[in-house]
Amino acid sequence: MNLIKTTVLVLSITAFTSCSKKETAFSDPLITNRDTTVSPAQDFFNYANGGWFKKNPILNTDSSNGIMRIITDTINSQIKNICEKSALDKDAAKGTNKQKIGDFYASGMDTIAIEKAGLSPLNAELKKIEEIKDVQSLVAGIAHLQTVGASPAYSFYVTQDDKISTKYAVFFTQGGLGMGQRDFYLEKDKRNVTIRDAYSTHLKTIMRSMGEDEATASKNAAGILKLETELANASRKLEALRDPLKNYNKLTVDQFNKQTPNIDWKKTLAVLGVPKADTVIVGQPEFFAAFNTLLKSYTTEEWKTYLKWNLINSYASFLNKDIEKADFKFFSTVMNGVSTQKPRWKRVVNQTDTSLGELVGQVYVAEYMPKGVKEKLEEIGTNVRDVFAEHIKKLDWMSDATKEKALKKLSKIVMKLGYPDKWKDMSSLTIDRKSYCANVMSANSWDYQDMIHKFGKPVDRTEWHMYPQTYNAYYNPSNNEIVIPACNIIVPGYEGRMPDDAVLYGIIGGSFFGHEITHGFDDQGSQYDENGNLNNWWTPEDLKKFKAKTKLIVSQYNKFEVLGKHVNGDATQGENIADLGGVVVGYEAFKKTKQFKNNEKISGLTPDQRYFLAYAYSWMINRRDESKITQITTDVHAPEQFRINGPLANVPEFYKAFNVKEGDKMYQKENERVVIW
Ligand SMILES: [Zn+2]
Repeated sequence: MNLIKTTVLVLSITAFTSCSKKETAFSDPLITNRDTTVSPAQDFFNYANGGWFKKNPILNTDSSNGIMRIITDTINSQIKNICEKSALDKDAAKGTNKQKIGDFYASGMDTIAIEKAGLSPLNAELKKIEEIKDVQSLVAGIAHLQTVGASPAYSFYVTQDDKISTKYAVFFTQGGLGMGQRDFYLEKDKRNVTIRDAYSTHLKTIMRSMGEDEATASKNAAGILKLETELANASRKLEALRDPLKNYNKLTVDQFNKQTPNIDWKKTLAVLGVPKADTVIVGQPEFFAAFNTLLKSYTTEEWKTYLKWNLINSYASFLNKDIEKADFKFFSTVMNGVSTQKPRWKRVVNQTDTSLGELVGQVYVAEYMPKGVKEKLEEIGTNVRDVFAEHIKKLDWMSDATKEKALKKLSKIVMKLGYPDKWKDMSSLTIDRKSYCANVMSANSWDYQDMIHKFGKPVDRTEWHMYPQTYNAYYNPSNNEIVIPACNIIVPGYEGRMPDDAVLYGIIGGSFFGHEITHGFDDQGSQYDENGNLNNWWTPEDLKKFKAKTKLIVSQYNKFEVLGKHVNGDATQGENIADLGGVVVGYEAFKKTKQFKNNEKISGLTPDQRYFLAYAYSWMINRRDESKITQITTDVHAPEQFRINGPLANVPEFYKAFNVKEGDKMYQKENERVVIW
């Protein structure tokens, strides 16, 4: 659902300053981004963006370069100002947002204190792990670590019950993997073997940093890898996690106890802070069965080593230089090909925004958001929704009965735009200048408490799960809502002027509103009704037709290849359906504008050409090879090139705009083109 989080580096966007009497100098990005040596009919993504890629190589500190980096750099330089200004005011009243932001940032910049502290900010937690003596205290120890920002063995969270969206429920899902994804442990190709070898070395480095001798560190590193590989073996594949029904197994606590007798779930739920929960939703029961066995097939000492690693791994970026560097070397250099670490201030700005985004957001909106953002987003969103409704009515493959339900669901989609009406009260969070790592832990614990305290209370449908300064967006099926933060209005290259409608509808209309609304009707979203409940609203016949269409999308994307690896059409289908729906409804909405109706050319481009070029601009991202492979293994989004070329090959207007003919690479046989929404 979400975009991929990218790393950040400041590059100031050229402001097109105007001389008092002259017209503003303007070089249209849709023209300058192009690589005219590439044919749009062969590879539209590189035709539209390749010129920019050639002029802007990927920096040593980044795994990719493109539109997301430009925009996040702008936002991060603004957050830096907020952080620095706050940090300068050492007398800010205790407990104010300014004090918290300033002290957090200052603690992150205080490398002397961080070096001196070493691992000590984790001492209390490491000691608790050391005190574990049997399976019972091990289970409790694993649960306790969940409350302080680590997540060994499994993932736990409290969120809306998929089948009763008015209630919060307790969820247990597979997890506990240091490398995040099962394939890194199990696949036998060269790339994954290299990654595993590097991971072993990394584990050993971390063990050594805890004071273990060479032989013990080697033995423990091997033990951790072995245990994690067992967890990986019991984990479902990325595509298997897409089925909301198969990953929803509601059990009473007694039933869960029977399935996993080595774990006392009543006691565990008490440690987790939800003692009153009498039912749980288990994502993958077979994973917990395996975990139950592993509790006894590995010794308590082996588990303790894994827990220590898990804790340090969660906080490695906030510890002393040696640990931080080792962490960078594995997760950034090996996994993503990044050779040089970003300057410290950039990393700390990023973390301040991650830990205190709710506080930073309040200043960001007040100081940096131009007036009228909400209204502009509202206008585009309403147009896109109206067009989506017209589209549903015209669908030739869907019966009237299902259309009625789809239209009802569409009309009830809540649009949260810009920034929240109310902010979370974080007054109980304490931040000071003493320890960066302790500050991150406090913020994590605050988030955790905020989450578990929802249990048993009425669902707060006004809550946001993104900040206004986050360049990203989401659809939440349980609330049937889309959330588009304010900063998504930014289009680089159009500073100081309003982009033309082709650009606005191509990027914000297509890639944000159209895409997110379509998530309500993708392979997963379509299983939730208008009230956010997992509940079938399709006639059997229409459901069959819908599945046949999604199957076509899966096979189209399975054919795409990056560095010899095929795109996982099953795992990425929801995003691909959303991309296709997004570009189509964005285009339909654009057709209603004056610019389209007057067939006005700008910079020599027709409205249609501008719309499709703008759409391609929204995914102008160039990645390192390592990052491409990691992405294809872990991400439910297809690589950017196919997020453009994939959907466009199904859109007839695109063929006309760029004269795509049979035999061209972008050409898809007419009877194989997919129209879903
Ligand atoms: Zn999405």
